[in-house]
Amino acid sequence: MERTILIRIGEIFLKGNNKGFFVSTLKSNIMHALAGIECALVNTQNRMYIEKYSGEDEPEIIERLTKVFGISSISPAVKVKTELSVIADACSDIFPESGKFRVSVNRADKRLPLTSMEIAGDIGEIMLNKKKNRTVDLYKYDFEVNVDIRENGMTYIYYDKIPCQGGLPVGCGGNGMLLLSGGIDSPVAGYMMAKRGLKIFAVHYHSFPYTSEQAKEKVIELAKEISAYCGEITLFVVPFTEIQYAIKENCKIEYMITVMRRFMMRIAERLAAENNCGAIITGESLGQVASQTMESITVTNSVAKLPVFRPLIAFDKTDIIEISRKIGTYETSILPYEDCCTVFLPKNPVIRPTIGTAESFEKKLDVDGLVENALSGVEVYRCKY
Ligand code: ATP
Ligand code: MG
Repeated sequence: MERTILIRIGEIFLKGNNKGFFVSTLKSNIMHALAGIECALVNTQNRMYIEKYSGEDEPEIIERLTKVFGISSISPAVKVKTELSVIADACSDIFPESGKFRVSVNRADKRLPLTSMEIAGDIGEIMLNKKKNRTVDLYKYDFEVNVDIRENGMTYIYYDKIPCQGGLPVGCGGNGMLLLSGGIDSPVAGYMMAKRGLKIFAVHYHSFPYTSEQAKEKVIELAKEISAYCGEITLFVVPFTEIQYAIKENCKIEYMITVMRRFMMRIAERLAAENNCGAIITGESLGQVASQTMESITVTNSVAKLPVFRPLIAFDKTDIIEISRKIGTYETSILPYEDCCTVFLPKNPVIRPTIGTAESFEKKLDVDGLVENALSGVEVYRCKY
């Protein structure tokens, strides 16, 4: 009897001709996630298994697999040769000695003479004979004995089905550039787009000395936390103070955030181009603050040529907080360090800005020069959990 973990793949099942590409991306992501643990990934028709690991490592392997996008569920299992008596003995040994149970059989190996129902009946009978305190109940059972008879002459027996993330393997949808602040929303936005298959790069705007070293460390920590799901993240930290000074001196105070956001977009697009990213990602949610009204988003968006993905656009803050707690970023996000947006924050930012007015302020600025200057001071961090 060998211990193994059965991996069920999610939406990849729907893929046609390029299914091979999705599967090989998933395999490589699983191996990355399990780096440092001795084990083997075995891929057979429509199934993947982790095998040849030490029992002590099983909880850690399970924990890491539950964070890999593209996996819908996993089951710790034992693997035995496909012989009725061997299977029945194994079932009897693994499962509780008393209680109500049912046996469910999936028979992919069509060479067997018996039907699934017949095999289930035979296994159930042997289990009953071995322990008198067991009873069969197909509807109100305490445990279910799942028997998966595969084509390769091996049978997998499991009882637990642990739900995983679902989604698509990171990397199979291309690269995205995430605007990562130290807040609650943007890490969740990055997590959500990685779940749809994007490999995440991130950019953070830092207003030293108005924002502290700790504020930067916090963002690095957030990138590490989401890298448990997204894989390694390259984070660009861009000095933003010079741009904020220039804006403060030349723009009407109500328009400062609007113009600042347009600079963020321009710089993100440049970094996106350098890193082969096909989209920008933000944590914006419609109406959450003045800079996230439809008009504000229109004015910010108008400097971008790439598509801007806003996965949280229709989410309430409470729903976003729930996800951030679930993925483990919430506690870091609420640490009280200033973000660059709060440094020169006007009391009454414009709620319905127009592109024309924003452009009229920008005419007074050396937009290209400021962008180049900021990019020349960029710091790069490789963030990995
Ligand atoms: P978050 O919780 O993500 O900080 P927020 O509710 O504080 O969001 P804003 O401050 O208006 O909202 O920011 C909206 C979006 O702009 C953020 O989700 C993020 O994508 C981006 N953003 C804001 N500040 C920064 C920053 N300093 N560096 C990089 N991106 C930023
Ligand atoms: Mg913020």
